[in-house]
Amino acid sequence: MKKYLVISFLFLTLTIEAQIPATIFESSNGKESASYKECLNFFKQLAGKSGQIQMKTMGPTDAGLPLNLVLFSADKQFNPSKWKEQEKLIIFVINGIHPGEPDGIDASMMLLRDLIAGKIKAPSNIVLAILPIYNIGGSLNRGGFSRVNQDGPLAYGFRGNSQNLDLNRDFIKSDSKEAKSFAEIFHWLNPDIFIDNHVSDGADYQYTMTLLTTQHNKLGGPIGQYLHEVFEPSLFKGMETKKMTMTPYVNFEEGNPEKGWNYFYDPPRFSSGYAALFQTMSFLPETHMLKPFTERVKSTYALMQTFIEQGSQQAKAIKAARKQSIEAVKKQTEFALGFKTDTSKFQLIPFNGYETAKKISAVTGMQRMYYDHSKPFSKPVKYFNYALPEKIVQKPSAYLIPQGWHSVIELLRINAVQFKILDKDSIIEVNAYRIEDYKTSTRAYEKHYRHSDVKTSMRLQKIAFRKGDILIPTGQAADRFLVETLEPIGDDGYFAWNFFDAILQQKEGYSNYRWEDVAGEFLDRHPEIKQSLEEKKQTDPAFAASVNAQLDFVYKQSPWYEPAHLRYPVYRIEKK
Ligand SMILES: [Zn+2]
Repeated sequence: MKKYLVISFLFLTLTIEAQIPATIFESSNGKESASYKECLNFFKQLAGKSGQIQMKTMGPTDAGLPLNLVLFSADKQFNPSKWKEQEKLIIFVINGIHPGEPDGIDASMMLLRDLIAGKIKAPSNIVLAILPIYNIGGSLNRGGFSRVNQDGPLAYGFRGNSQNLDLNRDFIKSDSKEAKSFAEIFHWLNPDIFIDNHVSDGADYQYTMTLLTTQHNKLGGPIGQYLHEVFEPSLFKGMETKKMTMTPYVNFEEGNPEKGWNYFYDPPRFSSGYAALFQTMSFLPETHMLKPFTERVKSTYALMQTFIEQGSQQAKAIKAARKQSIEAVKKQTEFALGFKTDTSKFQLIPFNGYETAKKISAVTGMQRMYYDHSKPFSKPVKYFNYALPEKIVQKPSAYLIPQGWHSVIELLRINAVQFKILDKDSIIEVNAYRIEDYKTSTRAYEKHYRHSDVKTSMRLQKIAFRKGDILIPTGQAADRFLVETLEPIGDDGYFAWNFFDAILQQKEGYSNYRWEDVAGEFLDRHPEIKQSLEEKKQTDPAFAASVNAQLDFVYKQSPWYEPAHLRYPVYRIEKK
């Protein structure tokens, strides 16, 4: 009986391998990367051959095509609530967010085939979810020139999506349909580990694989500590065992790293920064652009295999640390909206680079820098990988948002935020922010003229809310996401991303000749305001010389001035 089982297993393995053709990457000897269609067809074939793979059609993209999610589960169980019961570790992989960097696309095709064929071990405590190509529009915009730094493949997609957006800056503002669909998938899966496969730009060095890990102090809590002390080192070791030694993401552009380098700060607009808001360990494998495509795909495959091996071995510990972190966030009272490098602390890491030298440029006739491959070096460098929190804010006991701000409310909904809808009109005492000052970028960045250096004041006031307005109690898993997006001073908050720009403009005003009369009578009734006007005239010569400034000064202190101007429409109910 046993013999029969072994033979039939072997037969099954062989038949699956025989029935599934090689990937485009393999059949072209590592010269080509699968197109969108080829990639999808390949996964459809796999799903047809093995019950361990399921393909699901998910939400829309700007390209007019839906996202396809490929799931792998060794026990053929495809229900996330069952995975939760079974304590499975969920690994979520996305490829082709920058389709010009396609290594993950081809590596994932081979990885899933090899898992169902039994060529590599498929642990039963792991579930894999893969978005084979996230930026479909960019992937269909195929060419061979947009990545001048890169060694292969022959053809690849373009970085911008169908709106020419960089999807790896879109996870908070969600201008693309992709980002909204992604958020729904992310919360449906609730992954423990998130991987977003890329190819780097920047300096030259010996490594094929570099790993950008979300900053551990920023991830925070028991999971941040676990990531830094146990999981990330195990990935480096796992790759070394496979003779594919990697280095932390190399964060210097040109020259030699004499001074070492800082960790890469991944704010929530980036995929990994977004995932970290939900206590998910997140990673951007960045293969080195100057290495041949074949080597890059192989190392991406090896790293994903390492994630599966280490994830499986450490599943219990990872799940426990993440659970503790999720509970801790619900109780956390202070949140940092920014981080800066702690320059007093660093790790000494080995680094295999190339010496740089100067020669005459064939283009300009002047001196240029180049990396001398005949002079490789190995030396320790300082890696500044500790971050200190800044811009600390207190979490309120709830936020209140009037229903008119529906684009924000929609984003809260798709990000699994729990909220209540007011069932009657109510006067509620809230803390209201006023935007006192801010700067606005004069150049577009990803479709926005972002605000920064936001200064606010806050005042307790009674405000009329209506049936249908949104009350968001904190103390939930999404607390970090809420504070990050709803506090007006955050770099990746909805205020910075222009969602509330309508409050920045006054909607009503006055004609000077009419306001002169009304303001005169108003000042007679309010001598205290008349006095402050006189005082300001004494101390501020420009003010004293300006009719408009003085009329405006009185108007802004009168009941005719609209309360909504500069009043930030996300209100706080403070903790008692
Ligand atoms: Zn990239």
